[in-house]
Amino acid sequence: ILRRIAEPDRVVSFRVCWEDDNGNIRVQRGWRVQNNNAIGPYKGGIRFHPSVTESVLKFLAFEQTFKNALTGLPMGGGKGGSNFNPKGKSVREIMRFCQSFMTELYRHIGADVDVPAGDIGVGGREIGFMFGQYKRITNEFTGVLTGKGLEWGGSLIRTEATGYGAVYFLANMLAAKGQDLVGKSAVISGSGNVATHAAEKIVQLGGKVLTLSDSGGFIHDPDGITQEKIDWVKAHKTHRRGRIEDYCAEFKSATFTAGKTPWAVPCDVALPCATQNELNGDDAKMLVANGCIAVSEGANMPTDLAGVHVFKDAKIMFAPGKAANAGGVAVSGLEMSQNSGRRSWSEAELQQMLKDIMAGIHERCLTYGDQGGGYIDYVKGANIAGFKKVADAMLAFGVV
Ligand code: NDP
Repeated sequence: ILRRIAEPDRVVSFRVCWEDDNGNIRVQRGWRVQNNNAIGPYKGGIRFHPSVTESVLKFLAFEQTFKNALTGLPMGGGKGGSNFNPKGKSVREIMRFCQSFMTELYRHIGADVDVPAGDIGVGGREIGFMFGQYKRITNEFTGVLTGKGLEWGGSLIRTEATGYGAVYFLANMLAAKGQDLVGKSAVISGSGNVATHAAEKIVQLGGKVLTLSDSGGFIHDPDGITQEKIDWVKAHKTHRRGRIEDYCAEFKSATFTAGKTPWAVPCDVALPCATQNELNGDDAKMLVANGCIAVSEGANMPTDLAGVHVFKDAKIMFAPGKAANAGGVAVSGLEMSQNSGRRSWSEAELQQMLKDIMAGIHERCLTYGDQGGGYIDYVKGANIAGFKKVADAMLAFGVV
């Protein structure tokens, strides 16, 4: 099972040609890694970023398989994307790229086959362009992508779900120790979908957010990043495609540090929500030395291996991404159910379902992660619980 589970079922690789606004023909590579469909259709995001390679997508699809199993919903694991860089591109260029990407991808996906979603560089707008092209080519209106707009099959709270879920998981870990988020200071990296919604939920639950970041550096606002400031960041990063350093011109209490991650800022809790390997061993030592008691990974594998060991040795609460950020794919799973049933649930129903799913994942982690003496190894708990479900299904199918 270990040897079979480590091999993706299928890796599709294809050329994507598109025309830029100056009439130049541009060529990119696109991929879809269909990792494992033992417990449901392949499911996982699409990433557009110059750092995307087949290797990056393979690790993300592998992680996704166990994350999806942890949610308790019937979803297999996959991941896709392209080395296309959306930064500095016009909306028309992004549309032409998305259409060209889907013109290849459409033959490999389907509502019961493989259901992609968004990820870094792919938000509601890009999902719209890709869904439109899928519908145009196949003449089918079907739940083939998640993260869709509310008017055309999307689910309420899908946009918020990953960040909110990462904070619900954090609250579950704290509650297991008789604590909550009220009055706790939080350091967050990133300023995209996951980071801004994690910040929003921390504020709603009574915590104080001190930092946000992007690939240019981080901002530190000792007065706290309030809902009003988060709304400004969302508009600035998403609609204006701006840089996080512009925050300091808008809110004078903040400072910007170029080229650095925010982990040296003392805090009670930390949420890495930007990208992989953004928190290394030295960063982890600094967080622990400064009194950080809990880390919840909003991004996928943001803490490198040395950092994970530091957190485990210090026995602080550490939630790996496959458990902590599963709220996004969970609500994607609920979007698939709503599409199949041709219905939509209310926001209150979905909020409750998301909370229940995150509490369920926390419980599953406890089953295999409780080490006694008050220490819970969430990495071990999440890995074993996710693996067991997929492995049991594969065993039932025989050698296929
Ligand atoms: P967005 O594109 O909305 O935001 C990404 C953020 O991370 C931006 O602030 C970006 O800065 C920063 N960033 C991206 N790449 C790098 C890099 N190489 N170095 C430094 N900063 C970087 O993406 P999401 O918020 O959707 O995704 C963030 C993380 O969460 C990813 O790991 C993703 O896989 C994971 N995730 C997302 C889910 C979702 O539902 N969206 C679900 C589960 C996990 P800049 O603007 O400068 O590029």
